[in-house]
Amino acid sequence: MSGTHNDRDAAVVVGRGPAGLTAAIALAEGGIQTLLVGLRPAKADNRTTALLADSVTALDTLGVWPLSRAKAAPLKVMRIVDDTGRLWRAPEVRFEAREIGLDAFGHNIENRDLIDAMEERARNLPGLRIVDGEVLAIKPERDHVAVDLKDGSTYRAPIAIGADGRKSICRAAADIDMDDRDYPQVAITLCARHSRPHHDTSTEFHTPNGPFTLVPLPGNRSSLVWVVAPETADDLASRDDAELSAEIERASYSILGKIEAEPARGRFPLRVATARRFADRRIALVGEAAHVIPPIGAQGLNLGLRDAATISELAIKADRQHQDIGGDEVLAHYDRLRRADVGSRSFAVDLLNRTLLSDFLPAQSMRGLGLYLIDRIGPLRRAVMREGVAPAAARPRLMRGEAL
Ligand SMILES: Cc1cc2nc3c(=O)[nH]c(=O)nc-3n(C[C@H](O)[C@H](O)[C@H](O)COP(=O)(O)OP(=O)(O)OC[C@H]3O[C@@H](n4cnc5c(N)ncnc54)[C@H](O)[C@@H]3O)c2cc1C
Repeated sequence: MSGTHNDRDAAVVVGRGPAGLTAAIALAEGGIQTLLVGLRPAKADNRTTALLADSVTALDTLGVWPLSRAKAAPLKVMRIVDDTGRLWRAPEVRFEAREIGLDAFGHNIENRDLIDAMEERARNLPGLRIVDGEVLAIKPERDHVAVDLKDGSTYRAPIAIGADGRKSICRAAADIDMDDRDYPQVAITLCARHSRPHHDTSTEFHTPNGPFTLVPLPGNRSSLVWVVAPETADDLASRDDAELSAEIERASYSILGKIEAEPARGRFPLRVATARRFADRRIALVGEAAHVIPPIGAQGLNLGLRDAATISELAIKADRQHQDIGGDEVLAHYDRLRRADVGSRSFAVDLLNRTLLSDFLPAQSMRGLGLYLIDRIGPLRRAVMREGVAPAAARPRLMRGEAL
């Protein structure tokens, strides 16, 4: 591909985060000549991702999982502990993957390890070219999209996949608005060593400010996502490693023994945002360009991977049928397939988060009752677990282990 590229069957993916890399790999694997353009993030991402079982299957099918498996820890048990200290407290709920016939709900992996594995896979695909650069403008035209880079080059393709994150310029170019809301919460992220084993168990403490979640990593290590009020985040940021470790040990009731926080820390203001359309004007949005949800229940990137799998499947099918891969039909189909999955998960996560923050007694009792029912009613419990791992409807082929 050269600076001005015009092949009918080519795609341009904008954004080299995990959603963009997955889309680019899937398209190239399916025989579509693909250009992946983007910047590597300026600052290392110290977050981890709990990849649910379907996402692991998709990454395995794309040849990424064999390159990352050794760095991931299985999630066999998930515990939810009500630590709100309120009148209506929910019972502790414990889900085991074997109850729904799985070895593990998924695997937790550091984002940098996941992205390294994806980049390695991407570099070895003959139909995929990676260009390191900043995109300045996306211009949708009647039969193609033009992508202008800072270095002066322009690439053209019948479809652009906008995987350029929260401040997506692809979304702006497609003239798509977001419905969004900021929460009075910040997620602090870090990894820590601990003296006791985690037994492949992730524990989510529900506190009045949001969840405090420990997720296993290989060995005696876990990642922490600690959702707090912004002023508490500032206070925690001012602590040295030893003080912060002691705070974490206290907040986790020493379930993992002595805690040793590792130096790198992240700070993410919490937000829920959903694009009003997921595609328009030859541009399809995937990952956080399309939706942002709070880090509760490990849904964000799992949704992003399903976006990438879905648009790739539709574009490859259209290409094989000699149809326009970025045409209105493909884009409208993509929007229809993704709306229910993204909408229902955003709604559930938003509701749960708001009942945690609420001082309104009926809201607290509703959450308590919900968790009580999930704990006690076997079929409901298993249905919730299955739906949490994968959507019953609109499951893309990659998530079923089928090559594109
Ligand atoms: C605290 C926290 C914990 C989380 N935990 C989980 C979890 O356990 N499980 C889960 O599924 N999800 C989780 N998520 C969500 C997950 O991290 C995100 O969904 C995911 O990182 C989004 O990936 P992305 O590829 O869409 O966007 P990004 O990772 O933001 O990638 C966008 C890329 O586009 C590039 N880019 C942007 N603009 C341009 C431009 N103009 N030119 C060139 N390049 C550009 C950027 O440099 C970047 O590389 C969590 C989120 C948070 C905040």
